[in-house]
Amino acid sequence: MSVPLFENTLRASRAYYLFGKDMQLGLGHAYMVISPDDEIVKEFFTLVAARMYCVSGRACMECRGCKTVLDGNNPDVFTVNPQGEKIKVQEVKDMVSSVSIKPISGVKAYFVCRADLMTQDAQNKLLKTLEEPPEGVTIFLGVANEAGVLETVKSRCRKLYIDVFDRETVYNALTALHCPAENAAIAAACCEGQLGKARLIAFSPEYGNRYSDALTLLERLKKSRDVLDAESVPSLRSGESEFLKVLTVVLRDITSAKEGAPLFFGAELAGRIERLAEGFSLRALALSVEAVARAQEKLSFSVNPTAVIDGLLFDILEVKYKWR
Ligand SMILES: [Zn+2]
Repeated sequence: MSVPLFENTLRASRAYYLFGKDMQLGLGHAYMVISPDDEIVKEFFTLVAARMYCVSGRACMECRGCKTVLDGNNPDVFTVNPQGEKIKVQEVKDMVSSVSIKPISGVKAYFVCRADLMTQDAQNKLLKTLEEPPEGVTIFLGVANEAGVLETVKSRCRKLYIDVFDRETVYNALTALHCPAENAAIAAACCEGQLGKARLIAFSPEYGNRYSDALTLLERLKKSRDVLDAESVPSLRSGESEFLKVLTVVLRDITSAKEGAPLFFGAELAGRIERLAEGFSLRALALSVEAVARAQEKLSFSVNPTAVIDGLLFDILEVKYKWR
């Protein structure tokens, strides 16, 4: 485990607050830590483990207790499935048999990554341990998709939902990591409130290009003849469905700019977005977002991508002029 990149943001989260309260009142035997953002669940695990073994009880990341967690040599901390792959019965069997061994410090913690990928058999195997865990043992299940967890398992766990973070929080967290402001703004726009995803986007140049290309596409879209030029947009050619996701974000950002919401972009991107906002009515923007959603659906049925994109651009052009 390494020091969480988003330590401060996570410390301020509701999930961490609730966990802290339990630390004071008495830890439960089993928790589900729920977020679609695997990276952030892992970071949360680290923070929680540090808090449990910190000499001062604050997860200071400096003391002897915190260091054993960060260096991975705390004999009472176990991480299961750190790669987040499908969990087989044997892995759970191994875990269950080690649970009964007495903790050295008096407290033992298991962190299971992507517990929602446990097979049904594996979950059933774990059930008895969740029902009657030995004294001093706490099991944390990281869950991206609650539907993957059996009701019987769920009912044994206290739930900690990790927040979806607002745009400003994500932007500030990324700039604190010395991410360039423009990248941070694009990542904050495209990450759906997930910090781990935001980090991937912020440090991937491809993503920034897609955002800028989506703006270019809309800027060029002035007469129907231009639709045929869509092929010349590089990041569109390299993956239509990823591009359409970003196009949706861009259309929403133009909508926000029209409504006067803060976007955190630098002067250049902000200027482009504002100029586009002048050319579209709110109604046209809403209908364009719907048109993108229809195009995404068509793509998922593997209809010819070029035809789908051309159709989409004609649709956007039409609503743009029809709903001025
Ligand atoms: Zn400490």
